[in-house]
Amino acid sequence: MQSTKSEDCLIFYAFSPENIKLKQVYNSLSEFIKNKQIADPSDRFNLIVFQADGPNYLDQFTFDSDYILKTLKTMSKDISKANIAGGIFIAITFIIEVYKKISEKIFRLLILVDDGAYEIPDAYLPPLQELIKVVKDMPFFIDTVLIGSPYSDQAQKLLKLTNLCNGELFGIKNVRDLNPILTSLSEKKYISDPSFIKHRLRMILPDNQPFYINLADTPEPLIETTTCSICFQKDNHGIVKCPSCDNPAHEICWAQWAKTSNIGIPHVFRCHNCFNILKLDKQFVSDVQAGKIPTIAEMQKVEKKNIVDYLHELEDKMKPKIVQADDPMGLEIKAMMETKNGEPKKEKKKRRVSVKICPNCSKIMMGDRKNCPSCGYVLF
Ligand SMILES: [Zn+2]
Ligand SMILES: [Zn+2]
Ligand SMILES: [Zn+2]
Repeated sequence: MQSTKSEDCLIFYAFSPENIKLKQVYNSLSEFIKNKQIADPSDRFNLIVFQADGPNYLDQFTFDSDYILKTLKTMSKDISKANIAGGIFIAITFIIEVYKKISEKIFRLLILVDDGAYEIPDAYLPPLQELIKVVKDMPFFIDTVLIGSPYSDQAQKLLKLTNLCNGELFGIKNVRDLNPILTSLSEKKYISDPSFIKHRLRMILPDNQPFYINLADTPEPLIETTTCSICFQKDNHGIVKCPSCDNPAHEICWAQWAKTSNIGIPHVFRCHNCFNILKLDKQFVSDVQAGKIPTIAEMQKVEKKNIVDYLHELEDKMKPKIVQADDPMGLEIKAMMETKNGEPKKEKKKRRVSVKICPNCSKIMMGDRKNCPSCGYVLF
Protein backbone atom coordinates (compact mmCIF):
# COMPACT_ATOMS: atom_id res chain seq x y z
CA MET A 1 0.00 0.00 0.00
CA GLN A 2 1.34 3.40 -0.92
CA SER A 3 0.18 6.78 0.17
CA THR A 4 0.90 10.35 -0.73
CA LYS A 5 0.49 13.25 1.58
CA SER A 6 0.48 16.98 1.48
CA GLU A 7 4.07 18.26 1.30
CA ASP A 8 5.97 21.10 2.91
CA CYS A 9 8.94 21.77 0.65
CA LEU A 10 11.97 23.79 1.73
CA ILE A 11 14.18 24.95 -1.13
CA PHE A 12 17.80 25.56 -0.18
CA TYR A 13 19.11 27.85 -2.91
CA ALA A 14 22.89 27.30 -2.80
CA PHE A 15 23.96 28.14 -6.34
CA SER A 16 26.90 30.54 -6.22
CA PRO A 17 26.03 33.97 -7.61
CA GLU A 18 29.20 34.35 -9.70
CA ASN A 19 28.60 31.11 -11.60
CA ILE A 20 24.86 30.89 -11.88
CA LYS A 21 22.50 33.81 -12.04
CA LEU A 22 19.11 33.50 -10.44
CA LYS A 23 17.56 34.64 -13.73
CA GLN A 24 18.77 31.41 -15.35
CA VAL A 25 17.13 29.30 -12.66
CA TYR A 26 14.06 31.34 -11.93
CA ASN A 27 11.75 29.90 -14.57
CA SER A 28 12.52 26.28 -13.71
CA LEU A 29 11.99 26.99 -10.07
CA SER A 30 8.77 28.86 -10.65
CA GLU A 31 7.51 25.99 -12.78
CA PHE A 32 8.50 23.48 -10.08
CA ILE A 33 6.45 25.32 -7.46
CA LYS A 34 3.47 25.85 -9.74
CA ASN A 35 3.45 22.20 -10.89
CA LYS A 36 3.36 21.09 -7.30
CA GLN A 37 0.54 23.43 -6.43
CA ILE A 38 -1.56 22.33 -9.36
CA ALA A 39 -1.11 18.72 -8.26
CA ASP A 40 -1.91 19.54 -4.64
CA PRO A 41 -2.96 23.02 -3.50
CA SER A 42 -2.27 22.01 0.10
CA ASP A 43 1.50 21.89 -0.52
CA ARG A 44 3.50 24.69 1.06
CA PHE A 45 6.93 26.20 0.42
CA ASN A 46 9.84 27.93 2.04
CA LEU A 47 13.38 28.82 1.02
CA ILE A 48 16.83 29.24 2.52
CA VAL A 49 19.21 31.68 0.88
CA PHE A 50 22.63 32.76 2.15
CA GLN A 51 23.35 36.44 2.07
CA ALA A 52 26.35 38.38 3.34
CA ASP A 53 24.74 38.56 6.78
CA GLY A 54 24.11 34.81 6.92
CA PRO A 55 21.27 32.43 6.11
CA ASN A 56 17.80 33.88 5.50
CA TYR A 57 14.49 32.05 5.38
CA LEU A 58 10.78 32.62 5.95
CA ASP A 59 9.56 31.99 9.49
CA GLN A 60 6.67 29.85 8.15
CA PHE A 61 5.95 27.71 5.15
CA THR A 62 3.53 29.45 2.80
CA PHE A 63 0.80 28.34 0.39
CA ASP A 64 1.46 31.48 -1.63
CA SER A 65 3.73 30.55 -4.55
CA ASP A 66 3.92 34.13 -5.78
CA TYR A 67 5.12 35.22 -2.38
CA ILE A 68 7.93 32.65 -2.43
CA LEU A 69 9.03 33.70 -5.91
CA LYS A 70 8.79 37.38 -5.04
CA THR A 71 10.89 36.83 -1.92
CA LEU A 72 13.51 34.95 -3.89
CA LYS A 73 13.69 37.80 -6.41
CA THR A 74 14.02 40.37 -3.65
CA MET A 75 16.89 38.38 -2.17
CA SER A 76 18.63 37.90 -5.49
CA LYS A 77 20.82 41.00 -5.34
CA ASP A 78 22.55 39.92 -2.16
CA ILE A 79 22.94 36.17 -2.62
CA SER A 80 26.35 35.06 -1.38
CA LYS A 81 28.33 31.85 -1.22
CA ALA A 82 26.29 29.30 0.70
CA ASN A 83 27.53 27.15 3.54
CA ILE A 84 26.02 23.76 2.77
CA ALA A 85 26.47 22.24 6.22
CA GLY A 86 24.98 25.31 7.91
CA GLY A 87 22.04 25.36 5.51
CA ILE A 88 21.20 21.71 6.11
CA PHE A 89 21.44 22.24 9.86
CA ILE A 90 19.03 25.19 9.69
CA ALA A 91 16.67 23.29 7.42
CA ILE A 92 16.45 20.36 9.84
CA THR A 93 15.99 22.45 12.97
CA PHE A 94 13.33 24.56 11.23
CA ILE A 95 11.44 21.50 10.05
CA ILE A 96 11.49 19.96 13.54
CA GLU A 97 9.84 23.12 14.86
CA VAL A 98 7.13 22.83 12.21
CA TYR A 99 6.67 19.09 12.83
CA LYS A 100 6.16 19.79 16.52
CA LYS A 101 3.19 22.04 15.71
CA ILE A 102 1.48 20.25 12.82
CA SER A 103 0.76 16.75 11.60
CA GLU A 104 -0.08 14.92 8.40
CA LYS A 105 2.71 16.39 6.28
CA ILE A 106 5.66 15.08 4.35
CA PHE A 107 8.69 17.32 4.66
CA ARG A 108 11.04 17.83 1.74
CA LEU A 109 14.36 19.57 1.44
CA LEU A 110 15.48 20.43 -2.08
CA ILE A 111 19.13 21.47 -2.27
CA LEU A 112 20.23 23.35 -5.40
CA VAL A 113 24.01 23.59 -5.35
CA ASP A 114 27.08 23.98 -7.53
CA ASP A 115 30.84 23.75 -7.07
CA GLY A 116 31.00 27.32 -5.79
CA ALA A 117 29.39 26.72 -2.39
CA TYR A 118 31.44 26.12 0.78
CA GLU A 119 32.08 22.44 1.10
CA ILE A 120 30.85 20.41 4.02
CA PRO A 121 33.82 20.18 6.42
CA ASP A 122 34.71 16.52 7.08
CA ALA A 123 34.12 16.93 10.78
CA TYR A 124 30.51 17.98 10.17
CA LEU A 125 29.50 14.97 8.16
CA PRO A 126 28.92 12.55 11.10
CA PRO A 127 26.86 15.02 13.19
CA LEU A 128 24.72 15.86 10.13
CA GLN A 129 24.19 12.16 9.47
CA GLU A 130 23.09 11.67 13.08
CA LEU A 131 20.60 14.53 12.79
CA ILE A 132 19.14 13.20 9.59
CA LYS A 133 18.63 9.76 11.13
CA VAL A 134 16.50 11.33 13.84
CA VAL A 135 14.17 13.16 11.43
CA LYS A 136 13.95 10.83 8.48
CA ASP A 137 10.88 9.02 9.77
CA MET A 138 8.81 12.18 10.09
CA PRO A 139 8.83 11.50 7.04
CA PHE A 140 11.55 13.72 5.63
CA PHE A 141 13.14 13.56 2.17
CA ILE A 142 16.23 15.29 0.80
CA ASP A 143 16.88 15.70 -2.92
CA THR A 144 19.93 17.44 -4.33
CA VAL A 145 20.56 18.90 -7.74
CA LEU A 146 24.25 19.58 -8.26
CA ILE A 147 25.66 21.54 -11.18
CA GLY A 148 29.21 20.23 -11.39
CA SER A 149 31.12 17.01 -11.08
CA PRO A 150 29.25 14.17 -9.38
CA TYR A 151 32.61 12.66 -8.43
CA SER A 152 33.94 15.49 -6.28
CA ASP A 153 34.35 15.09 -2.51
CA GLN A 154 31.52 17.51 -2.01
CA ALA A 155 29.22 15.48 -4.26
CA GLN A 156 30.05 12.28 -2.40
CA LYS A 157 29.22 13.87 0.94
CA LEU A 158 25.95 15.22 -0.39
CA LEU A 159 25.12 11.83 -1.84
CA LYS A 160 25.62 10.20 1.57
CA LEU A 161 23.28 12.68 3.25
CA THR A 162 20.71 12.52 0.47
CA ASN A 163 20.63 8.72 0.51
CA LEU A 164 19.94 8.67 4.22
CA CYS A 165 16.61 10.37 3.47
CA ASN A 166 15.43 8.24 0.56
CA GLY A 167 16.32 11.02 -1.81
CA GLU A 168 18.36 11.32 -4.94
CA LEU A 169 21.32 13.34 -6.08
CA PHE A 170 21.23 14.59 -9.64
CA GLY A 171 24.49 15.73 -11.19
CA ILE A 172 23.99 18.04 -14.16
CA LYS A 173 26.46 19.89 -16.33
CA ASN A 174 24.52 22.99 -17.07
CA VAL A 175 21.73 25.09 -15.68
CA ARG A 176 19.77 24.26 -18.86
CA ASP A 177 19.40 20.68 -17.60
CA LEU A 178 17.66 21.89 -14.49
CA ASN A 179 14.17 22.02 -15.95
CA PRO A 180 13.55 18.31 -16.60
CA ILE A 181 15.04 17.37 -13.21
CA LEU A 182 12.84 19.83 -11.35
CA THR A 183 9.83 18.64 -13.31
CA SER A 184 10.42 15.08 -12.15
CA LEU A 185 11.07 16.28 -8.61
CA SER A 186 7.80 18.18 -8.57
CA GLU A 187 6.04 14.84 -8.34
CA LYS A 188 4.91 13.64 -4.95
CA LYS A 189 7.05 11.49 -2.75
CA TYR A 190 5.43 8.18 -2.04
CA ILE A 191 5.79 6.50 1.26
CA SER A 192 5.10 2.84 1.21
CA ASP A 193 3.09 1.97 4.24
CA PRO A 194 4.40 -0.98 6.22
CA SER A 195 1.79 -3.59 7.13
CA PHE A 196 1.32 -2.30 10.66
CA ILE A 197 -0.27 0.89 9.25
CA LYS A 198 -3.26 -1.22 8.28
CA HIS A 199 -3.83 -1.84 11.95
CA ARG A 200 -3.73 1.90 12.54
CA LEU A 201 -0.52 1.60 14.45
CA ARG A 202 2.37 3.90 13.88
CA MET A 203 5.77 3.32 15.36
CA ILE A 204 8.89 5.31 15.99
CA LEU A 205 12.11 3.34 16.22
CA PRO A 206 13.24 2.79 19.84
CA ASP A 207 16.53 4.70 19.23
CA ASN A 208 14.62 7.81 18.22
CA GLN A 209 11.88 7.63 20.86
CA PRO A 210 13.68 9.75 23.50
CA PHE A 211 14.06 12.57 20.95
CA TYR A 212 10.31 12.66 20.22
CA ILE A 213 9.30 12.22 23.86
CA ASN A 214 11.47 15.20 24.83
CA LEU A 215 10.13 17.25 21.94
CA ALA A 216 6.60 16.91 23.33
CA ASP A 217 5.18 19.46 25.77
CA THR A 218 3.65 18.46 29.08
CA PRO A 219 0.16 19.94 29.52
CA GLU A 220 0.09 22.66 32.16
CA PRO A 221 -2.04 22.58 35.32
CA LEU A 222 -5.12 24.80 35.47
CA ILE A 223 -6.65 26.20 38.63
CA GLU A 224 -9.76 28.08 37.51
CA THR A 225 -12.95 26.20 36.79
CA THR A 226 -13.30 25.39 33.11
CA THR A 227 -15.12 23.09 30.79
CA CYS A 228 -13.10 20.22 29.36
CA SER A 229 -12.84 20.59 25.58
CA ILE A 230 -13.14 16.83 25.08
CA CYS A 231 -15.94 15.63 27.40
CA PHE A 232 -17.54 19.06 27.95
CA GLN A 233 -17.90 18.39 31.70
CA LYS A 234 -17.30 21.19 34.16
CA ASP A 235 -15.18 19.18 36.55
CA ASN A 236 -11.82 20.55 37.59
CA HIS A 237 -10.38 17.33 38.86
CA GLY A 238 -7.29 16.58 36.78
CA ILE A 239 -7.84 19.37 34.28
CA VAL A 240 -4.81 20.70 32.36
CA LYS A 241 -4.23 22.90 29.31
CA CYS A 242 -2.24 22.68 26.10
CA PRO A 243 0.71 25.11 26.46
CA SER A 244 0.46 26.02 22.80
CA CYS A 245 -3.25 26.87 22.37
CA ASP A 246 -4.43 27.02 26.01
CA ASN A 247 -7.28 24.58 25.35
CA PRO A 248 -8.32 22.81 28.58
CA ALA A 249 -8.93 19.08 28.89
CA HIS A 250 -8.88 16.39 31.55
CA GLU A 251 -5.72 14.31 31.63
CA ILE A 252 -7.97 11.27 31.51
CA CYS A 253 -9.75 12.54 28.40
CA TRP A 254 -6.43 13.24 26.67
CA ALA A 255 -5.16 9.81 27.67
CA GLN A 256 -8.14 8.30 25.85
CA TRP A 257 -7.69 10.64 22.90
CA ALA A 258 -4.02 9.55 22.68
CA LYS A 259 -5.21 6.14 21.56
CA THR A 260 -6.19 7.51 18.15
CA SER A 261 -3.79 10.39 17.68
CA ASN A 262 -0.44 9.30 19.05
CA ILE A 263 2.65 9.95 16.94
CA GLY A 264 3.93 6.40 17.14
CA ILE A 265 4.63 6.38 20.89
CA PRO A 266 1.49 5.53 22.91
CA HIS A 267 1.72 8.39 25.44
CA VAL A 268 2.88 11.08 22.98
CA PHE A 269 0.04 12.57 20.97
CA ARG A 270 -1.20 15.68 19.19
CA CYS A 271 -3.52 18.26 20.77
CA HIS A 272 -7.01 17.84 19.23
CA ASN A 273 -7.32 21.61 18.91
CA CYS A 274 -3.94 22.80 17.56
CA PHE A 275 -1.86 19.74 16.55
CA ASN A 276 0.96 20.54 19.00
CA ILE A 277 2.75 17.44 20.34
CA LEU A 278 1.88 16.65 23.96
CA LYS A 279 2.80 13.90 26.40
CA LEU A 280 1.38 12.42 29.59
CA ASP A 281 2.80 9.90 32.01
CA LYS A 282 3.33 6.61 30.23
CA GLN A 283 1.86 4.40 32.95
CA PHE A 284 -1.12 6.71 33.44
CA VAL A 285 -2.00 6.62 29.73
CA SER A 286 -1.62 2.88 29.60
CA ASP A 287 -3.85 2.44 32.70
CA VAL A 288 -6.57 4.73 31.31
CA GLN A 289 -6.55 2.97 27.98
CA ALA A 290 -6.70 -0.43 29.65
CA GLY A 291 -9.77 0.68 31.63
CA LYS A 292 -7.95 0.51 35.00
CA ILE A 293 -8.76 4.17 35.69
CA PRO A 294 -12.43 5.05 35.27
CA THR A 295 -13.12 7.87 32.83
CA ILE A 296 -14.97 10.98 33.96
CA ALA A 297 -17.80 10.79 31.48
CA GLU A 298 -18.58 9.30 28.16
CA MET A 299 -16.15 10.86 25.74
CA GLN A 300 -17.83 12.99 23.09
CA LYS A 301 -16.82 12.35 19.55
CA VAL A 302 -13.89 14.70 19.18
CA GLU A 303 -13.62 16.06 15.69
CA LYS A 304 -10.08 16.60 14.56
CA LYS A 305 -9.68 19.88 12.73
CA ASN A 306 -8.83 19.77 9.07
CA ILE A 307 -5.12 20.47 8.99
CA VAL A 308 -5.16 22.38 5.70
CA ASP A 309 -8.01 24.68 6.82
CA TYR A 310 -6.14 25.21 10.05
CA LEU A 311 -2.88 26.14 8.26
CA HIS A 312 -4.76 28.55 5.99
CA GLU A 313 -6.29 30.17 9.08
CA LEU A 314 -2.82 30.61 10.55
CA GLU A 315 -1.37 32.07 7.37
CA ASP A 316 -4.32 34.46 6.91
CA LYS A 317 -3.61 35.79 10.38
CA MET A 318 0.06 36.36 9.70
CA LYS A 319 2.09 36.50 6.49
CA PRO A 320 5.47 34.76 6.70
CA LYS A 321 8.39 37.08 7.39
CA ILE A 322 12.02 36.78 6.37
CA VAL A 323 14.25 35.92 9.29
CA GLN A 324 18.01 36.08 9.31
CA ALA A 325 19.84 33.46 11.35
CA ASP A 326 23.44 33.14 12.43
CA ASP A 327 25.35 30.68 10.33
CA PRO A 328 25.57 27.77 12.79
CA MET A 329 28.66 26.38 11.11
CA GLY A 330 30.23 29.66 10.05
CA LEU A 331 33.21 29.49 12.40
CA GLU A 332 34.45 26.26 10.93
CA ILE A 333 34.18 27.67 7.41
CA LYS A 334 36.10 30.79 8.47
CA ALA A 335 38.87 28.64 9.93
CA MET A 336 38.95 26.63 6.74
CA MET A 337 39.25 29.74 4.61
CA GLU A 338 42.11 31.10 6.71
CA THR A 339 44.10 27.96 6.17
CA LYS A 340 43.36 28.06 2.47
CA ASN A 341 44.51 31.66 2.23
CA GLY A 342 47.99 30.53 3.17
CA GLU A 343 48.01 31.42 6.84
CA PRO A 344 50.64 29.43 8.66
CA LYS A 345 49.03 26.39 10.21
CA LYS A 346 49.32 26.91 13.91
CA GLU A 347 49.67 23.94 16.17
CA LYS A 348 46.25 24.69 17.42
CA LYS A 349 44.01 22.22 19.09
CA LYS A 350 41.41 21.06 16.69
CA ARG A 351 37.98 22.50 17.46
CA ARG A 352 35.76 19.63 18.38
CA VAL A 353 32.64 19.71 16.33
CA SER A 354 29.50 18.61 17.99
CA VAL A 355 25.81 18.86 17.49
CA LYS A 356 23.96 18.59 20.77
CA ILE A 357 20.36 17.62 21.31
CA CYS A 358 18.92 18.83 24.61
CA PRO A 359 17.84 15.74 26.59
CA ASN A 360 15.01 17.76 28.13
CA CYS A 361 13.36 19.54 25.17
CA SER A 362 15.12 18.12 22.07
CA LYS A 363 16.41 21.56 20.99
CA ILE A 364 19.24 21.05 18.53
CA MET A 365 22.30 23.27 18.93
CA MET A 366 25.90 23.60 17.85
CA GLY A 367 29.06 23.73 19.86
CA ASP A 368 30.00 23.61 23.49
CA ARG A 369 27.10 25.17 25.31
CA LYS A 370 26.65 24.56 29.01
CA ASN A 371 22.93 25.29 29.09
CA CYS A 372 20.13 24.64 26.64
CA PRO A 373 19.21 28.03 25.08
CA SER A 374 15.59 26.95 24.92
CA CYS A 375 14.80 25.44 28.33
CA GLY A 376 17.92 26.17 30.39
CA TYR A 377 18.63 22.49 31.08
CA VAL A 378 22.25 21.93 32.19
CA LEU A 379 24.11 20.03 29.49
CA PHE A 380 27.11 17.85 30.09
ZN1 LIG B 1 -12.84 15.73 29.99
ZN1 LIG C 1 -3.26 22.78 21.60
ZN1 LIG D 1 16.22 22.20 26.31
